[in-house]
Amino acid sequence: MLAHICLLLIAAQQPSSLTIGSAAARSGQAASGFIDVPAGTDAATRIPITIVRGAQPGPTLALIAGTHGSEVAPIVALQRVRSALDPATLRGTVLIVHVANMPSFLGRTVYYSPVDGKNLNRVYPGKTDGTVSERIAYAITNQIIDRADFLVDIHAGDGNESLRPYSYWSPLGLNPRADSVAREMALAWGNDHIVIDTVRPRDPRASVYTQNTAQLRGKPAITTEAGYLGVAAEEMVQRNVDGVFRLLRYLRMVPGEVELVRQPLFFARTEVIRSPATGVWHPRVDRGQSVQKGALIGTLTDFFGEQLAEIRAPFGGIVLYVVGTPAMSQGEPMGMIGEPRLER
Ligand SMILES: [Zn+2]
Repeated sequence: MLAHICLLLIAAQQPSSLTIGSAAARSGQAASGFIDVPAGTDAATRIPITIVRGAQPGPTLALIAGTHGSEVAPIVALQRVRSALDPATLRGTVLIVHVANMPSFLGRTVYYSPVDGKNLNRVYPGKTDGTVSERIAYAITNQIIDRADFLVDIHAGDGNESLRPYSYWSPLGLNPRADSVAREMALAWGNDHIVIDTVRPRDPRASVYTQNTAQLRGKPAITTEAGYLGVAAEEMVQRNVDGVFRLLRYLRMVPGEVELVRQPLFFARTEVIRSPATGVWHPRVDRGQSVQKGALIGTLTDFFGEQLAEIRAPFGGIVLYVVGTPAMSQGEPMGMIGEPRLER
């Protein structure tokens, strides 16, 4: 009995272990495992995660990839981040969610889960008794976001989207510190095109988006976009890896000079162009292209090739993404245009 007590005392004196799902790491260690999302009205799933705990104290940064399963450059990037991070020199903790939306990743779907047809980035903070997307959101809210001080939800163009890298900064005016730190996080990450989104929900119980769930809990957070068309293009993988380490330097979690984007282009006015009908999409612009108001973005035909609509730019700006594959349903995005404004 006495021996047991001594062992317990010794255990208590060790640096405390952080356990999330099946991953457990002490200070100076990294560990990978899974958060189990139990079965409900539909099948169970699991979320692969890595905990990297620095030997020195510091903040907790959450990095989430695969919210949309065909946005793959960030998923490959976080594998590289896992092997590049050194717990011995890290300050604080990095929580890596490698693939948030396993049903969508393995099912190769865009936007929606193949199981419940829901968009994971529209169901936060989730619920325990919901469908699988809602249960994933609940697990990430409670196991990852609640433990984080800062968060990046790392997206790319989805399997159908030809996208030029940009980030979302979402100042809601509720928490000046979270708003201003998030702005600097966007500048630190490195995408020089930054969309300002001030219309996200302000109710923490209906936060809808991953990033917004953190932001409404006082944790500065951004959403980033780099990658396209369901492929892990090397330049886009590396851009995401660089973003992580630029942000870690900004947060003083790894040593090195802080670098912020010097001449960002901010976009206060953006528009997602949605399809007026179901048919076959023929894009006529490239990602990142500048267009004038009224420029032809693409044409929509019926399944036989007869033209249904010419889609034109609603205002002049930059094509942040254009759908690059033919399948098109009524109401779905065809592209996104942003009107840039130079700011310091
Ligand atoms: Zn996405």
